[in-house]
Amino acid sequence: MSVEKALIEKKENTGKLQKAVLIRTILPELLMCVVILITIILRTRSSLEEEVYRSLEAVANSVVNAYNVMYPGDYELVGDKVVSLYKGDKELTGDHDYLDKVRVGSGMDLTLFYKDARILTTLKDSEGVRYIGSGVHTTIMDAMEKQKSPLHYKTEIESGKLYYVCYVPLINSDGSLVGMVGTAITAREVRREEDVAVAPILLIAAAGLIAASLISRSYTTSVVAAVESMHSFLTRMVAGKLNNEMPQEILKRGDEIGAMGASIVRMQNAVRILVECDPLTTLYNRRCGDAKMKAIQKKAAESGEPFCIAIADIDFFKKVNDTYGHDAGDLVLKHVAAELKDLMAGRGHAVRWGGEEFLLIFEDMRLVSAAASIETLIDKIRAAHIAYGVKDIRITMTIGLVEGSADKTLEDMVKEADDKLYYGKENGRNQLVVHPGEPEPCYRLLLVEEMDMMRSDTVVTFSEDMLESEKLMKLLSDNAYKEIESGEEHPEDGNDDAGEEENDE
Ligand code: GH3
Ligand code: MG
Ligand code: MG
Repeated sequence: MSVEKALIEKKENTGKLQKAVLIRTILPELLMCVVILITIILRTRSSLEEEVYRSLEAVANSVVNAYNVMYPGDYELVGDKVVSLYKGDKELTGDHDYLDKVRVGSGMDLTLFYKDARILTTLKDSEGVRYIGSGVHTTIMDAMEKQKSPLHYKTEIESGKLYYVCYVPLINSDGSLVGMVGTAITAREVRREEDVAVAPILLIAAAGLIAASLISRSYTTSVVAAVESMHSFLTRMVAGKLNNEMPQEILKRGDEIGAMGASIVRMQNAVRILVECDPLTTLYNRRCGDAKMKAIQKKAAESGEPFCIAIADIDFFKKVNDTYGHDAGDLVLKHVAAELKDLMAGRGHAVRWGGEEFLLIFEDMRLVSAAASIETLIDKIRAAHIAYGVKDIRITMTIGLVEGSADKTLEDMVKEADDKLYYGKENGRNQLVVHPGEPEPCYRLLLVEEMDMMRSDTVVTFSEDMLESEKLMKLLSDNAYKEIESGEEHPEDGNDDAGEEENDE
């Protein structure tokens, strides 16, 4: 898939995962909340209704009892044309005082019925006129006559308003039903109480839902950010960038996403090895070597730091194959590759350039230092005994070295190194060629001498030749001194005899 396509896909898909996760987490929470709330509201409503009916009945009963206590005797209609309701000796008709007081105390409207007709009531119309004489629905009266026990209704009464109502029978000593005491409270008032009871539950549920949504959102945001970051990483990989850094916050997660991030990093490393390295020697392959040379030349052009390029070739390698077999040849290649890797560690890069040919790129290093390092390598290769079963394989190498330049093309520099290598092959092999046709100095010794000059307190007088040599002047600031000082590179370090031998040669 092309990078453009991957980027378009990424753009198109941005936000989809978060949306999907949020829908799948918040929607069920919302639905669950709604179901719980409806259940709570219905239960609250039904228990509140029960409570209301209990209160209505209690107040109605207390009124009935109060009349019995205050006015002992039966209820009786007295009079011919104009009748009046009596309780014992007390004429009740027109005496609303007691019911009005109870209304103030209880907040309920009260009515005293004779049969189904209102004799006393606290219910008034909009003009303040009591609903005297009006009656209840026949179904209520029929039910009361049948049951002679408290009845509960949610019904409209005179004003057309909806009320919760309780009717308690008024029964005379002979057991006959005289009438009823009705207590009523408006449905609106009950609803208000209901709202007061339910509001805190609603608020808590809403706060819980908001908190859950925020937590879900913040978590999914971090998950989506991690997924997007890994997607960008993979998109860059597809574009051929194999040096991506996986953000630390992903690797530190410690969950499946962190593990996936670590796997992607391992995959990148595996791909990089596949793409950049030669499978036999594990050195960089030619394609990668080209890229490294370009990068180093560019860096050198910007910073002015020196660099060198060498082409190395195993001498008479075909003979190794012919004598010991191809596997032995492979073993020799691996041995040489290990030596080259060792040599170039901290100095630059070793590349398998072709069959038994290698490219060495010395970064931030002048020619003399690179030459001294190569001398050491050639000695090591020459001295090595490569064991192949019981066989002992000996090899040598020829190497051509050039100093890098920002002005020359890489092809030209490689060709120049190759020409020097060719010169070495034609002139005895087993050697480093820096100046074809001229005797090569011992570069390690040259460095040691320069070191001594640096160490000495006396003023050093350079020959005209030396001063003319920009090479030497630059050498004075070359970090090769540090290498020699630390004793890492000079094989004859602490062994003057060996140094003399080298010189004699
Ligand atoms: P010279 O000193 O002139 O370089 O001689 P040479 O024999 O080293 O050079 P030549 O070019 O004649 O032979 C190189 C041989 O390297 C030929 C080829 O079969 C062998 N070769 C190339 N790649 C591999 C490899 O991966 N494994 C093995 N075993 N041999 C290889
Ligand atoms: Mg060869
Ligand atoms: Mg060759």
